[in-house]
Amino acid sequence: MNKILITGATGQLGKLVVTELLKKVPPTSISVMVRDAQKVTGLKDLGIQILSGDYTHYQSLVAAFQHTEKLYFISSSSKTDRFGQHTNVIRAAAEAHVGHIFYTSAHRKSDDESSLLTGDAHWQTDALMKQSGLKYTILKHSLYMELLPFFMGDDVLRTGLIALPAGEGKSTYVTRQDLAAAAAELLTTCGHDYKTYNLSSPVSYSFTDIAAVMSELSGTTISYADLPEVKFAEKMSLAGHPEKLLKGTLLFCNALKKGEFDFPSSDLEKLLNRKPESVKSFLKQAYDL
Ligand code: NAP
Repeated sequence: MNKILITGATGQLGKLVVTELLKKVPPTSISVMVRDAQKVTGLKDLGIQILSGDYTHYQSLVAAFQHTEKLYFISSSSKTDRFGQHTNVIRAAAEAHVGHIFYTSAHRKSDDESSLLTGDAHWQTDALMKQSGLKYTILKHSLYMELLPFFMGDDVLRTGLIALPAGEGKSTYVTRQDLAAAAAELLTTCGHDYKTYNLSSPVSYSFTDIAAVMSELSGTTISYADLPEVKFAEKMSLAGHPEKLLKGTLLFCNALKKGEFDFPSSDLEKLLNRKPESVKSFLKQAYDL
């Protein structure tokens, strides 16, 4: 039993976790579980073991998890049966006698029905893991900073305006890169049994704060307008954006307003032994400023 197994290794976070792990352990200590081996031929060439598995196929998980000492379980991107898939993963990990499971969970403001985005799946998965008998570590990931340009749009510098129905809601944004570096640290060191880490930045930002950062970086005035939802929907529709994108953005903005992403913590900084990437440094690069 000497393997670290990464699920979701074809995804944006998973790829970075594998890269960070390779800085700390030999490729022969790493396995990845993927649905499509064609996506990871480069990893195979490096000597990483490629295992086939799908969160929806229980037996594929039991087979993939054999001889796994540490499992880095990346939450499913499924919109329809996330918890069902997570249940498969946890049960299969227990059946395969996985030594330790690390789960990429999320923050949740409260355990009532009001949680919007972080949803029940993470909450239920945390609970199931605690009952499973497995040694676990819960990694509460804050909102990815990489989502900022997606929500703010490409034309912020041209228009001088960030227009979203997000009120003064704040978030403790983190980059996938920092989360991956923290994952590599957690997977290669001891002392994390049955712990929960709040992997967020120590500072939270509203879009008013972000507009101020963008103004400073660009040397022009960038303002934030807290649009009413109806006006925002009109704007999206006029720009030809699909209904799905509107719904996703509204959900995100409402959750932001309710403080569902606002969990300042020094856990990430301690694991990294440096400051996490700041919003300023990220936006400078993202908008080429
Ligand atoms: P991503 O790029 O979409 O990657 C998702 C990964 O999950 C891919 O490797 C995908 O494999 C794999 N996957 C999906 N369904 C699977 C299944 N049934 N069985 C096995 N693997 C499956 O997502 P990401 O950006 O790396 O984010 C990782 C996770 O964080 C997401 O899945 C989501 O739960 C969560 N998330 C967090 C935030 C945040 O702000 N904190 C934002 C978005 C998402 P394939 O290549 O085969 O599709």
